[in-house]
Amino acid sequence: MIEKDVVIIGGGPAGLTAALYSSRGLLSTVLIEKAIIGGQIALSEWIENYPGFPNGISTAELTNNMKKQVESFNTQIMMDEVTDMETLDRGFLVKTWGEEIKTKGIIFTPGASPRKLGIPGEDIFTGRGVSYCATCDGPFFKDMPVLVVGGGDTALEEAIYLTKHANKVYIMHRRDKLRANKIIQERARKQDKIEFIFNALPQEIVGDQKVSKMIYKDKITEEIKELEINGIFIFVGITPNTDFIKNSKLEIAIDERGYISVDKNLKTNIEGIYAAGDVIKKSLYQVSTAVGDGASAAFNLQKYIEESYDE
Ligand code: NAP
Repeated sequence: MIEKDVVIIGGGPAGLTAALYSSRGLLSTVLIEKAIIGGQIALSEWIENYPGFPNGISTAELTNNMKKQVESFNTQIMMDEVTDMETLDRGFLVKTWGEEIKTKGIIFTPGASPRKLGIPGEDIFTGRGVSYCATCDGPFFKDMPVLVVGGGDTALEEAIYLTKHANKVYIMHRRDKLRANKIIQERARKQDKIEFIFNALPQEIVGDQKVSKMIYKDKITEEIKELEINGIFIFVGITPNTDFIKNSKLEIAIDERGYISVDKNLKTNIEGIYAAGDVIKKSLYQVSTAVGDGASAAFNLQKYIEESYDE
């Protein structure tokens, strides 16, 4: 068993910033990450709307810099998975596979994961043509036609990235108006390799050993159509990573869509527990807003700890 002032769960931009503020505020801090430091931004190659980098910056470099910065203030980074959490008489107990940590406060920054389409063939062909990460899998489709499903920022940005590898990139959207930011729409429309298929409802992914077709329904004519492609990249939104919280002994308020409910200070329904980043409901999901939330959550938790543990 170890003791820390603050446990931060999730190593994306929100968690790394919370760790920076917490450890720089001289609270002993551990950040627990079960998979990849960087979180969802690791799924993209480049970011150009994070301030301070006029030419953009690679997400790997940005993450690496954030990690180095928190380590320089003595945050302990633990690559492990949280298995349970509970309230103690004072503070909380966080259990991972390898450790038990007694703490005064917790900040949840577990982020979100790509949402699935939920159609036949999606699960069977995941890793065999179906992907949720263009940076990871794009190079497998050199000079082949691929399909991107979705009409948001992620779908369009990743479709533009995929034009580097594929010889044709279809973007299939369920409406005739895109959700993505206008600047990204404009950029995608200028790409010769990109072709939009609007009012199209994905029905089934088919293939043999690997993906060969997407079957979809034309929403206007109700006709069932087929599109021959080698890869399908699905970007239809995100789902907050809160199952591990629901399955723990902590009774954190989580809304019907899985987001953690917080007040304006990013405090959850439990004193001493805060949340930040893509796991909370908000109007703008960006690295810049995750970073802001992470700083506020850590600052407010520090105030709580100073007031409650002033013995
Ligand atoms: P999103 O904005 O929620 O867009 C999801 C897209 O998928 C929408 O176009 C939606 O259609 C479509 N969709 C949802 N369910 C579907 C289904 N079952 N079948 C077919 N299509 C479906 O998600 P996102 O693009 O992943 O972005 C998540 C958040 O991150 C957003 O807030 C976004 O602004 C932000 N983000 C920002 C940047 C950036 O600033 N550079 C980059 C990436 C992401 P409808 O439009 O009809 O709902």
